[in-house]
Amino acid sequence: ATTKDLQNIDNAHHLHPFTVHHELRETGPRVITRGEGVYLWDSEGNRIIDGMAGLWCVQLGYGEQELVDAAADALKTLSYYNTFFQTTTPHAARLAQLIAEKTPDGLDQIMFGSSGSESNDTAIKLIWYYWNLKGKPEKKTIISRERAYHGSTVAGASLSGLPFMQGIFDLPLPRFHHVGPTPHYYEYGNPGETEKEFALRCAKAVEDKILELGPENVAAFVGEPVMGAGGLMLPPEGYWQEIEKICKKYDVLLWSDEVICGFGRTGEWFGCQAYGYTPDIMTMAKGISSGYQPLSAVAINREMADAIVNADSEMAHGYTYSGHPVVCAVALRNIEMIEELGLVGARGEEISAYFQKKLAALDDHPLVGQTRGIGLLGGIELVKDKSTKERYQPEGEAGLICRRHCFENGVIMRAVGDTMFLCPPLVISKDEIDELFDLVRKSLDLSHKELSA
Ligand code: PLP
Repeated sequence: ATTKDLQNIDNAHHLHPFTVHHELRETGPRVITRGEGVYLWDSEGNRIIDGMAGLWCVQLGYGEQELVDAAADALKTLSYYNTFFQTTTPHAARLAQLIAEKTPDGLDQIMFGSSGSESNDTAIKLIWYYWNLKGKPEKKTIISRERAYHGSTVAGASLSGLPFMQGIFDLPLPRFHHVGPTPHYYEYGNPGETEKEFALRCAKAVEDKILELGPENVAAFVGEPVMGAGGLMLPPEGYWQEIEKICKKYDVLLWSDEVICGFGRTGEWFGCQAYGYTPDIMTMAKGISSGYQPLSAVAINREMADAIVNADSEMAHGYTYSGHPVVCAVALRNIEMIEELGLVGARGEEISAYFQKKLAALDDHPLVGQTRGIGLLGGIELVKDKSTKERYQPEGEAGLICRRHCFENGVIMRAVGDTMFLCPPLVISKDEIDELFDLVRKSLDLSHKELSA
């Protein structure tokens, strides 16, 4: 089929996530046909360097033969079985063990699902179940943050702090509350306020919210170590340590949503390790399988696990594909390879440092208000005036213009509002990082020219 044929078929039948469909149908989707390493090819033969690792997930890059072999072997041996009937499979059991080795001490009980949103739904139910078992059924309220992204199921969208995902769907559900300011110093820090003071103010807002809702009602506080899809926002210095103290003080479970930050993205296995806090519960997906197969997981600590494991009631939750043997086989090999290749370790450190140096070098660009990042995550803030942080109007347009120039010049960066994201595969080399940033700079130059015209 030609590109045009495929676009016509797609336009006729395919609804895309988070898309204005009449706009997409005017241009037709770009058809991506092949991937290898950090590169993708479209149906017209254009090569694109993927600065987003798909959707923050392809840690090992595209076409890794070992993962293909792991899937093929597992498919041939046992193409499917469930974990409901007091049954397990070798891959599911070994994967649970391997994840438990990587999580912080004590978080060693693992439940599987297929997507980040599903793992967050599972976490909510495990939290509610736990408090019920502890004789505190009223502890059901969950606090998350303004501008958080936690998925798009009914519960995931309720957790998310993005009003455009909520209003028209009558969300959030009752018992889901959001707190601000969003811990993003560049945007919400007051004039004269130090980063540390700002961190304390953000944490105090969480404490005030717990007190307002009543600690006896608050089950958990959830946050992404680095806020991802809402704008690539790094926590201010000391923020997580304060949050940890507050959660302990009020007997509120601390839940780290590691869907983006997990599996080497921030340099450690998990973002909570990079920022030095220990959650009671973690959710993970994406990099767990490098996106080759849909997989997610929840890890809970011993206290939660003890209550659940010793309960006489059945834990009435789970999915047909919880612990799917093929999916688990791929994830197992993926995590082993992240380790073997030193992507969490020496090679990861060297590549991250190189990436962060190149990212910071964009600070001199006239369109760039701030660059920020950790590990192989980067954010670039597009502004009209660097000193006042004034944005181009209408907000978001500069981001779209930049995204278009990137796409036309063979590099993928995602735009949310006027923030551009970078999140390349962890296997990216220094030469490929050079190429990535050459194209990013070229796209920024072209965007600046267009915006200043
Ligand atoms: N949580 C976080 C932090 C995410 O970034 C995402 C997706 O981007 C999700 C949850 C939802 O994951 P999924 O799209 O696999 O449902």
